[in-house]
Amino acid sequence: MKIAVGGFQHETNTFAPMKADWEAFVQADSWPGMQIGAPLLSACEGTNVPVAGFVAEAAARGATFEPLSWCSATPSGPVTKDAYERFTDMLLSQLQKVTSDTDAVYLDLHGAMVTEHLEDGEGTLLQRVRDIVGPDIWIVASLDLHANVTSAMMAAADFLTAYRTYPHVDMAETGRRTAVALDALGKGNVRLAKAFRKLDFLIPLTGSCTLVEPGASLYAGIAALDNKTHEHGAVFGASFATGFAPADIFECGPSVLVYAENQQTADAVADALVKGVGQQEEAFAGGVWAPDAAVAYAIAKKRTAGPIVMADTQDNPGAGGNGDTVGLLKALVAAEGARVALGVLYDPEVAAAAHAAGKGATIDISLGAKTGGAPGETPLTGTFEVLALSAGEFIASGPYYDGATLSLGPSALLKYDGIEIVVGSKKVQCADRAMFEHLGCDPMVQDIIAVKSSVHFRADFNSIASEILVVASPGPNPADHRELDYQHLRPGVRLMPGEPDMS
Ligand SMILES: [Zn+2]
Repeated sequence: MKIAVGGFQHETNTFAPMKADWEAFVQADSWPGMQIGAPLLSACEGTNVPVAGFVAEAAARGATFEPLSWCSATPSGPVTKDAYERFTDMLLSQLQKVTSDTDAVYLDLHGAMVTEHLEDGEGTLLQRVRDIVGPDIWIVASLDLHANVTSAMMAAADFLTAYRTYPHVDMAETGRRTAVALDALGKGNVRLAKAFRKLDFLIPLTGSCTLVEPGASLYAGIAALDNKTHEHGAVFGASFATGFAPADIFECGPSVLVYAENQQTADAVADALVKGVGQQEEAFAGGVWAPDAAVAYAIAKKRTAGPIVMADTQDNPGAGGNGDTVGLLKALVAAEGARVALGVLYDPEVAAAAHAAGKGATIDISLGAKTGGAPGETPLTGTFEVLALSAGEFIASGPYYDGATLSLGPSALLKYDGIEIVVGSKKVQCADRAMFEHLGCDPMVQDIIAVKSSVHFRADFNSIASEILVVASPGPNPADHRELDYQHLRPGVRLMPGEPDMS
């Protein structure tokens, strides 16, 4: 089988202030930069990126490839029309040249891309791919667990499958699963029946963690459905995408997708999954702390088996935050006498000032609160000590980034009032201990570690944390969606799990 391979990844928070432009997709961040043509087959090799898993598995099954293009950008506000149209034009013209010689198309997608001119970036892309290849060539794609799956995506693709873990430690595995499915489709020349259901409530990021209930049992059940024979026929695969709530679009929110050998089976399995999710709806709300309360609790609790890890979820750069709000940082000043570390605070200006002053210097600066992520918030102003400096290039040691080369840009470890702060020049989600360690800050010895992340940090910090507190300090990714001014949701969608229907 000859497979055209490409990818276009963005998770769009339509309430976030910064847009994703062409340059955001070109540059490397926590993931590789834009790959055009053949290099894409090797650029992600061995990392936890879906396309890497797909290519490895499909190659092992004898496939050959037509490499198109692949890129990703850090989650943010909408993708610019320019970036979207330039990239899709390039990918589609590459595809056009190889279509006559291609059996299938695989795309590595997120599933929650909104652009300046389109509510459904992936639905439009998949439809344009279908228009080029026609009805007979397979189109398959892997998706993020947080995809806002749409009816257009379902209609255009033959098979979609979403991650089953959050933290997303199974991204490459999801690529592999897509390759296995495509192989089976091709060998049997099968067209699958599809069932697609949108649920009528939004799930916050912290409620979609699969290390705890209800996610843990739910996803174990979904994995057990792979290739299972139901009473009316064979199930091919099922997904539950929890959706990405801070996206003001018609088809925002959780979805169930089921592929089976006949419609009756697909519908029965989809309805059972929807029912199972609905029975646990309230448990998807997740629990969050006010910053002052979290700090007071941590002080009272004192250090036991390991640090208390606080997730600054509302400023998570993995969800459209800029990583520069300082509400939690200011609250941490109250933890006097404790060993406290925070990362990664995005402030290229301060990182440059620290590099100019040199290690051991003290600098008078205003830190953070410069990009408007929390309107009205002011920077933390004062005298900071420069403990360490780095170019910000290092290898991830934890399972989420999994050996990828991370790039924070020029970075510094600053000390303020006993708090050690990792300051970086690029927006990155703090989901790897190496982000502290590369500057000589040891997470293991801290009493409190604050991270700009919602859930991904758990992949590397769970094992050292005595406890994890999800904290809601002001930022563009509200843990409670009732704070957001939605205009475009379909009627009847409730903004939080367990909330009564107000329509
Ligand atoms: Zn995700």
